[in-house]
Amino acid sequence: MSRIAYVNGRYQPHRDAVVHVEDRGYQFSDGVYEVCEVRDGRLVDERRHLARLARSLAELRITPPMAAPALSIVLHETVARNRVRDGIVYVQVTRGVARRDHAFPAPATAPSLVVTARSLDRSKREEEAARGVSVVTVPESRWSRVDIKSIALLPNVLAKQFAREQGAREAWYVDRDGFVTEGASSNAWIVSDDGRLLTRPADQRILRGISRAIVMEVARAHGLVLEERPFTVAEAYAAREAFMTAASQIVLPVVRLDGRPIGAGAPGPVAAALRREFHRHTEFS
Ligand code: PLP
Repeated sequence: MSRIAYVNGRYQPHRDAVVHVEDRGYQFSDGVYEVCEVRDGRLVDERRHLARLARSLAELRITPPMAAPALSIVLHETVARNRVRDGIVYVQVTRGVARRDHAFPAPATAPSLVVTARSLDRSKREEEAARGVSVVTVPESRWSRVDIKSIALLPNVLAKQFAREQGAREAWYVDRDGFVTEGASSNAWIVSDDGRLLTRPADQRILRGISRAIVMEVARAHGLVLEERPFTVAEAYAAREAFMTAASQIVLPVVRLDGRPIGAGAPGPVAAALRREFHRHTEFS
């Protein structure tokens, strides 16, 4: 079955889906995006993802391409046309097409909107979570507004490639003071050696992950001791458990960090329980 992409008002065959060379996303990475999990043909926490998209757009003063209810129809239609039951839907908005000039184009310039969807193999993802994955640390190298889900991802690309070359699934950024910020495409968590669930507060140094917020709700509902505070790499090495969260991965246990086993070197009970309970706390649409 051929894939379909939505590009600026049209559903097109994916292979023919293109944007203009002077799209500001292409020229300047002047845009934002969202990734929403699709599960059993429904979107997971779409409302929160669209709210974060609206915030990212507002922070960069990009005009929303359409109102949230209309965008929701496009997301569902793209998922349906691609027959995605389990996977992701991706939405990208840029400041539009204009003659190349760094400053903003004329206010009437229409933003560009692209939506794609693709299937992910659910059983393979479950197998990966049951095995756990490796992570390597890298120095924080990003700009100071990573709370905005911008498409400017070059430091993330380089970190992810470094991880891949080391045989790892993800890279965790470490700031100048030795604290883990987050992953190249996920939020970072540990269960400390004294049993506390730790993740960095959602300031401007991390993306306020939707999965992160859900895991916090699950943790509270199950009476876990949760602390939103930065943790060091040393704490992570000594942790009982570590894991990462993202819409495309849910809760993914980390069993090795920089080549050292975390805890018993196998997925731990807290991460497994959070993953199991995750979708009881999400909204489906
Ligand atoms: N942090 C970064 C840098 C990300 O790119 C992502 C997801 O892509 C996340 C965190 C996790 O966010 P969410 O749980 O909303 O997918």
